[in-house]
Amino acid sequence: MTLRRLLIAAFALALAAAGPALARDLDHRLVLVTVDGLSWQEVFRGADPVRAADKTFVEDPAALKARFVEVPDRPRALTPFLHDVVARQGVLLGDRDHGGCAAVTNDMWFSYPGYNEILTGRVDPAIKSNEHGLSKNVTVLEWLNGRPEFRGKVRAVASWNVFDDILAAARSKLPVNAGWGTPASRTPTEVTLARLQGQTPRRWAGVRFDLFTHGYALETLKHDKPRVLFVSYGETDDFAHEGLYDQTLIAARRTDGFLGELWAALQADPAYAGKTTLIVTTDHGRGTDERTIAWKSHGKPQWPGSDQTWIAAIGPGIAPQTAPSKDCAGANQVAATGLQALGLDWKAFDPAAGAPLPIFKAAGRVSQP
Ligand SMILES: [Zn+2]
Repeated sequence: MTLRRLLIAAFALALAAAGPALARDLDHRLVLVTVDGLSWQEVFRGADPVRAADKTFVEDPAALKARFVEVPDRPRALTPFLHDVVARQGVLLGDRDHGGCAAVTNDMWFSYPGYNEILTGRVDPAIKSNEHGLSKNVTVLEWLNGRPEFRGKVRAVASWNVFDDILAAARSKLPVNAGWGTPASRTPTEVTLARLQGQTPRRWAGVRFDLFTHGYALETLKHDKPRVLFVSYGETDDFAHEGLYDQTLIAARRTDGFLGELWAALQADPAYAGKTTLIVTTDHGRGTDERTIAWKSHGKPQWPGSDQTWIAAIGPGIAPQTAPSKDCAGANQVAATGLQALGLDWKAFDPAAGAPLPIFKAAGRVSQP
C-alpha cells in the first residue's frame, strides 16, 4: 500500500467512526409536503381527456383542452416540477403504468387516517373518521420538536383546520398554522397575508385557499428558518369532491408551481441549500372504477383504487431515478424516510413504523453536497 493509499484508508476509517457526529454537523433539513387527494393518474398520465371534455365537470372544455389535453406531454403540462425536477434529480414513485406502486396501508382511504399514517409511520385502527378529534398519537413532527437539536425548529402550515387535531397542537406544543386561522403577524408579509386572508371570499369553512398556506410557508422558511417544515395543501381534494374537474386540474398545476417555488426558495437560502430534503406525497387516491363520478370520491370500500398514491423525494441523500422496487411504497414509510434524510435513526422514533423507502444513495455518499 502506498502512503497515499494508506492516508486515504485512514481518512475513510476516521469518517466512518465520526458517522453520527458528522450527520449532526451537516445540519440536514426536511420539508415534508402533502397535496390532498391528488391522484397518481393525474400525476403520471396528466389530465383525463374524456373527463376534461365533459360539460358536467368542466366550465370551458376548449380552454382546458388547450392547456392540459392537446399538449406535447400531458403529465408535464400538469405537474412540470414533479416531472422535470423531482423525477430527474430525485424519485417519483407510484407510476402503476410502468411498474411503480405506492399506497396507503390503512383501511380507510380518506384524510385523517392517511395523514396520521404519513406522520406517525403506522396505522391507527381507532381513527375511523375525519372528526376523530385530538390525536393521541405522537407524530414525527412532535417527536422531533421534543429533541434538543430540533426544539423550537419544527413548523407546520396547513390548509385544512383538522391539522390542529392530527398534529395535536393543544398537547404537542407544535406551532400549527392551519385552516382559516390567522397567526400573529410578525413581518410585513404576514400582515399582508392576514389582511388578504380576512378579506377574501371563502369556499370551504374548514379549508383555506392554498395560496395563503403557501404564503405562510414561504414566510416561515424566511423568518423562522425551521429545520423541519410540514406544508399541507388542500384544494386538489376539495375541488374534486365538488365535481369541478377544471378547478381540480388548475389546482394541481398551481400546487406544482408552489412546490417549485418552495424548492427554489430552499436552494436560494444558505440555511437550506444543499442540505434539505423535500418529500411530497398525498393522503389517499381517488376512485378508479367505471363510474364516471368515481374520481370525485375516495374511501373504502365504496371507491376501489383510492388507496393508490404517489410519493416524491429530492435532496442531497436521495439517489436519482431509483428504479421502482418490487415492494409497494407505503405511506407508513414516509416518516422514517424523513428521519433518515435528517441523518437520524428512525427506530429511535418508533421501531414499529414503516422502514425508510429504499431511495437513498449508498452509505458514505449521503453527505455529498
Ligand atoms: Zn377528500
